Amino acid sequence: MPVLVVSPSTQQLAARLLQRAAELRALLQQHAGAAVGASDNPPDVLDFKDVAAEDRQAIIDEATLAHATAELHQIVAALRRVEDGSYGECQDCGEPIDERRLFAMPATPFCTACQAIHERPPMPRR
Ligand SMILES: [Zn+2]
Repeated sequence: MPVLVVSPSTQQLAARLLQRAAELRALLQQHAGAAVGASDNPPDVLDFKDVAAEDRQAIIDEATLAHATAELHQIVAALRRVEDGSYGECQDCGEPIDERRLFAMPATPFCTACQAIHERPPMPRR
């Protein structure tokens, strides 16, 4: 394992990222396990009310899962930046990201200004 020379706040943020990544991996694994179990053992007697409830649950799970996967990807990318020493720099403009922003959102790849540009929906032509 290489020795990293990073600032104490980066170390703190990296620890939080690792912890969050572990939580998300556990969540995704749990879901994968549940899905396998369900297909292995299909229920043979269900009334319509139960089916509807199960469908709703599946939709919620899928959205949660998609969100967790996206967040995990962002965290993995952030941890990679910790390793290569570019953590805390905006991936767009290269300026340092405000530390308060990093503590609020440790996985963010962009500074406030660039994030605003990324979140802006495509401008409709009038
Ligand atoms: Zn920027």
